[in-house]
Amino acid sequence: MIHHSCFKCKRRFELDPVFVGFELSKLKKKRPSHYQAVCPACRAVNKVSVQAMQPELDAVEDEIKKMMAEYEESKAQAKAEARARAEAKKAESQEKQ
Ligand SMILES: [Zn+2]
Repeated sequence: MIHHSCFKCKRRFELDPVFVGFELSKLKKKRPSHYQAVCPACRAVNKVSVQAMQPELDAVEDEIKKMMAEYEESKAQAKAEARARAEAKKAESQEKQ
């Protein structure tokens, strides 16, 4: 777990490195320098240096990749389903005419 202290209220909270890595991957940035963590106590957005978390992120690299692959897959599936629904609707309205 990554430990971080809120800059505002000083409360310490934990970040799951797999989740952080997953969120960073979703940004589609080549090298994000910071991760924006929301403090669970005061909701302040904390910028956490990716460099400082790198060893923790590297340790769970495989898990992050797996999570990302599953996410991309479910996204592709949702897209395909939406397309299929649109096609069905189109076919249905054409039948009515
Ligand atoms: Zn806080």
